[in-house]
Amino acid sequence: MLLGEPPSTQADLNFRVLGFPVRVHPFFWIVVALLGMNMPDARALVLWVAAVFLGVLVHELGHAVVMRWNGFYPSITLYGLGGLASYGPGANAERSLTPWRQIGISLAGPGAGFLLAAVVCAGLVLSGTGLVVSWGLPLGLNVSPAAQIGGPLFTLFIDLILFVTVAYGILNLMPIYPLDGGQVARELFLMAMPRDGIRHSLILSMIAAGGIAVLGLTRGSFFLGILFGYLALGSYNTLQRYQSHRPW
Ligand SMILES: [Zn+2]
Repeated sequence: MLLGEPPSTQADLNFRVLGFPVRVHPFFWIVVALLGMNMPDARALVLWVAAVFLGVLVHELGHAVVMRWNGFYPSITLYGLGGLASYGPGANAERSLTPWRQIGISLAGPGAGFLLAAVVCAGLVLSGTGLVVSWGLPLGLNVSPAAQIGGPLFTLFIDLILFVTVAYGILNLMPIYPLDGGQVARELFLMAMPRDGIRHSLILSMIAAGGIAVLGLTRGSFFLGILFGYLALGSYNTLQRYQSHRPW
């Protein structure tokens, strides 16, 4: 998910993965813990925070690895609802990227999450535990272990990892600004209609976000309703500003 980068704090956690500098803003832990308030107890809450941390980190590493393939020196920041992989020094070159390379960078985040989910699923199948796959709104696909594996807490952790990587990946692929899918949709629209692509991608973003917000609220997910309602409003505002600055 693309967001602005927050200022450094004394409570930041800094480390490196695969050579990329990673910074975790304290707000990340707070927001993730608040989202996990429906967990049955403190141990489950800790596992939830650990699963989201791993899922978001792997997602941003996906973006960062493909950025590095394209000659950038990215860094990763985790905060709030998600994370950010910045292009790093020489970031102006971002504009020189071809649309397909930008699409590749955008898809690499959800793609890395799906890859982690596939490895976990392969482990479950090979260990004989098996998988339960179900379709359902509003998050689409739900994958869980079919039986307990290595104790109840480990089973819960595996379940949460699958939820975070699959659900976070699918949501991020929706053609909504500023999600990864929104960036992909913008590039595709711009290639198809260079003059009017941005406007069409904003209209699509508004409709898709509004649809998910309504779906979320009617299915009892207050969180999805608020989040996607906010994103729909953001697309609407951007569209208004964009149309008032049109040269014709
Ligand atoms: Zn992303």
